[in-house]
Amino acid sequence: MVTGRGNGAARMVTIGVLALQGAVREHERMLDGLGVATRRVRVPSQLDGLDGLVLPGGESTAIARLARPSGLLTAIRDRIDAGFPVFGTCAGLILLADDVADPGGLVGLPTIGGLDVTVRRNAYGAQLASGEADVELSAGALVAAHDVGVALPRYEDRNGSVHPVGRDDRAVDEPSTMRGVFIRAPRIERVGAGVQVLGTREYEPVAIRSGAVFACTFHPEIVPDPALHALWLGGV
Ligand code: GLN
Repeated sequence: MVTGRGNGAARMVTIGVLALQGAVREHERMLDGLGVATRRVRVPSQLDGLDGLVLPGGESTAIARLARPSGLLTAIRDRIDAGFPVFGTCAGLILLADDVADPGGLVGLPTIGGLDVTVRRNAYGAQLASGEADVELSAGALVAAHDVGVALPRYEDRNGSVHPVGRDDRAVDEPSTMRGVFIRAPRIERVGAGVQVLGTREYEPVAIRSGAVFACTFHPEIVPDPALHALWLGGV
């Protein structure tokens, strides 16, 4: 079970999953495997009482269009400004970006923003350019996982070996690799001064962090490697 680090007794962490469109179930399954309770979020009132929120991949334009009537994305932004932990994957990253190059159908729709990056939608081409690739997690990312001081969960890799996530097993003085599934992924073209790069693919940033906001261009919930989810949860 993952528990919050607040002062008193350990408490169960409840994470919301934005559930308007996209890979909702896959994130729920990943979070469930990490011992975290989840709740689907479709309207602003469902944000109340959550310890953090996952923004799944899917189609950023569809999510933004479906969220507009309730003002959900603006409500999420207000909470981010107050320190609320959010993890955006793929379309979720696009919604978090302060600047979207080639925004297409997002023009005129409220998004979330707050993450000082420029992303380009569908930068790797069409569906054919999609696939699985290695992501190098920076040593700094893994040290951060250790330093948050929570017992990070173990996970089973694709060969059936069981590893703890963090300093005990993954080398921190060398980068470590996780698999990421890239599906019509955005490219991070600019990273602002306050944004830390957690992971790269062929030397390009693909996983980033700014305070309690984490984001990646790929789908980390599809492969059985919870390293990024666990890292984010460590700060929740
Ligand atoms: N290309 C999609 C978009 O613009 C993102 C793809 C994804 O989330 N897998 O929202």
